[in-house]
Amino acid sequence: MAANTVTPAFPAPAGPAAPPGADAPAEAAPKLGLPLPVLHATVLDWYAANARDLPWRTPDASPWAVMVSEFMLQQTPVKRVLPVWETWMERWPTPADLAAEAPGEAVRMWGRLGYPRRALRLHGAAVAITEKHGGEVPEDHATLLSLPGVGEYTAAAVASFAFGQRHVVLDTNVRRVFARAVTGAEYPAQATTAAERRTATALLPAADRTAATWAVAVMELGALVCTARGPECGDCPLFTSCAWQRAGRPPYEGPARRGQTYEGTDRQVRGKLLAVLREAHDEVPQARLDAVWPDAVQRARALDGLVADGLVEPVEQGVYRLPR
Ligand code: SF4
Repeated sequence: MAANTVTPAFPAPAGPAAPPGADAPAEAAPKLGLPLPVLHATVLDWYAANARDLPWRTPDASPWAVMVSEFMLQQTPVKRVLPVWETWMERWPTPADLAAEAPGEAVRMWGRLGYPRRALRLHGAAVAITEKHGGEVPEDHATLLSLPGVGEYTAAAVASFAFGQRHVVLDTNVRRVFARAVTGAEYPAQATTAAERRTATALLPAADRTAATWAVAVMELGALVCTARGPECGDCPLFTSCAWQRAGRPPYEGPARRGQTYEGTDRQVRGKLLAVLREAHDEVPQARLDAVWPDAVQRARALDGLVADGLVEPVEQGVYRLPR
């Protein structure tokens, strides 16, 4: 891939993990069913044998390739991200390539990945990288955090996965694995808590590259085995030590968990309106937008929201386009 290429932290998963005791962190370990170095070795060995072969994990994947994947994967599964990521990287192999185009092109290429504000934010990050950082994705966590659209998770993920640094990387998969394996709860709290962050910090291996591989390994375990609705505990390397499993898999007792309803929501209407604009490659008259949804009030609300978010530009009365 393009310039700005470094060896990522987790190329093809490394061979056998460090022996017990070789990589123990200084922080106090949470209460676990097995010693921390054994936990590390167990999960890292599982990852070495089971990790998916994904293009943003290859040795020649640039930091930009990793950053694009992280923006896309935040709320969308790998299977849907893969084809869009491939096309994106072909068209915009560097941040400067994307920065040179209108933000509306990013929205168009985002296609049906959902939550399209991510496309605008990624475009904004590409512009900032091009204008302020010589076109190279910054290595430093604090500098990454200063980029538009880059929050704590993305900064930690890019610093870890692109540059092999040691950071707590807490996504929904990691939080769920820790909730079950360490805390003994079926699901984590709705929002990340200080206690979760302390647990994740205490579990982090001491060496940078091992920590970076650990971060992606736990994430992969959550994505492939310790899934939200149907954990495959029989296939899990943590089966015998998992706190939730050992407690007899107690049912979740927290507040009602948010569902993923989509049909009939403003999100669905926004998706339909945006699809018309993406496919048009030009300005679109109101009448074509009106045709996609029968409820005029909801349609107007969705369109107003798209305009407010900067995803759609009004050109003149009753005419719209993607942002230029
Ligand atoms: S044993 Fe089951 S619940 Fe525990 S970490 Fe593994 S898959 Fe998740």
